[in-house]
Parts: sequence; C-alpha cells; structure tokens
Amino acid sequence: MSTETQVGRFRIRALRESNFSLDGGSMFGVVPRALWENLTPVFEDHTIPLACNCFLVEDGEHVLLIEPGLGQRWSEKHQAMYRIEHPGGGLLQVLEAAGRRAEEVTHVLMSHAHFDHIGAACGGDGAPLFPNAHYFLADSERKAALNADHLRQASYRKKDLQPIVDAGLLDTFSGELEVVPGVTLHELGGHSDGASVVVIDDDGQRACFWGDVVPTRNHVALPFIMAYDINVEKSFQVRSKWIAEATDGDWVNLLFHDPEHPIVRFTHEGSRYGWVSLGE
Ligand SMILES: [Zn+2]
Repeated sequence: MSTETQVGRFRIRALRESNFSLDGGSMFGVVPRALWENLTPVFEDHTIPLACNCFLVEDGEHVLLIEPGLGQRWSEKHQAMYRIEHPGGGLLQVLEAAGRRAEEVTHVLMSHAHFDHIGAACGGDGAPLFPNAHYFLADSERKAALNADHLRQASYRKKDLQPIVDAGLLDTFSGELEVVPGVTLHELGGHSDGASVVVIDDDGQRACFWGDVVPTRNHVALPFIMAYDINVEKSFQVRSKWIAEATDGDWVNLLFHDPEHPIVRFTHEGSRYGWVSLGE
C-alpha cells in the first residue's frame, strides 16, 4: 500500500481522516452482491468498510488539502450507524502528524458537498477549520448544499458549508478552475450535481483525485456505479471517458474512500479495467 507519491514538483500524501462504513449494495448500485462480495469484507449488517482519505498536496509554495472528510460532529447514534472512527485523532491531528498546522493550509479543494466529504471543513465549534485558506467548490454544489431538496437532503448538511460562506472563505466555479498553477478542478456531475475531480499536472506527469466518481479501487469497473448517484447515465458517460484517459495516460489515481489502497494506477485487460498498487 502506498500513501505518498511525487508528481513533478508536487508532493502528495494520503492522510486517513476517518474510517466508516456504508451499505455494500448501495456502494455497488445495480451490481449483484455475488459479483462484489469477494472484493471487500462485509459486516453482518451488510455494510462494507470505507475510508476518508484526505490528500495533502505541497509544492514548496502552496499547501493544499483535497477533501476535508467526515469530521467529528456526529451524534452517538450516527457514529454507531456509520461505524465512524478517527484512527489518527481527526483531521487536524493527521495534518499535524504530516508536519502541517491548520493555519498553514492555503487552499481546501472540495469535490462535492456530501456530508462525508466536507463534514470536517468546520471544527467542533462550527467555525471553518482552516482560517487562512480559500475553500473551493462547484457552484452547483453550493446551491445543492444550502437548499437541498427532497432528493438531496439525505446527503447534504447545511451546517457543513454555511459557516464557510458566512466567513467569506468560499470560492465557487462552474466548468473548470485552475486553483494554483498545475492544479485544476473539473466539474463532471453524475454522482451529484457538480461532482468534480482534481487534476494535478507537472513535468509530463498527472495525478487525479476522483472524489466519488471513482470512490474505491473496485469502482474502476465501469458498471460499478453507486446507487447514491443522482444521474447514473451521466456518471456512466463521464466515467467511461475519464477512466479511459487515466488508464491510457498512466495517471496516478487518488482514491478518497478506499480503505486499503488510496493511491493506485488503473490497468486495462480487454474491455475490463483493473488496478495495481503504485510501484507495481
Ligand atoms: Zn458523494
């Protein structure tokens, strides 16, 4: 298992913000359990273990954090239901273990605003965790999070985003946005209205943070689309295009929810996609 890589001038490290679990059937959508149950452990309540892997990206000038994670603001009921644990103590603690303080973070990039991705954007007191950072999010996700309708309300919590807006720290975009030279957010949609990926380019190499477009290494298989996705047809289109490019281009792939392999390369055998650990 690899938790660190270098792409040109960018040092990229996976930080384990939390572990949790979600229903296995929901994670694999229409794929029958007979096809996925040998790919992952399954708990007796039919949930499967997942991680929240944040990525610290440093180029000597900027300190970027991709995806805050679940955070600490959960009731005992939800902690038990989702099996939430913070093996490293929480986001600030894993950041500190990597040699960085919250005040040093310059950019927080958020693929979308679902609670398991941005719950840690604010601390226990409800205030933004990174006071000197700009937070980046697709504008369509801002709208969904602040005014979630019936279809979306189970996945968003207004309290995760509102304090960042109120503090004037949120920058939104549509389409794509180069946040610092070589680091670009691309809004793809499919999983959620503005589900985005982060592409990191330097010196002819490329890494991609997939958010929930490819949440774990097993989701590189094209039919493995989560039941949570709001627009499955669009998910299939963007995944087909982007996974093919990542495989052909030998990209480094950064996976938010993978509990074992946060950094992998994709492989291709005939019409099937697979994965290998970095360095294999
Ligand atoms: Zn999501």
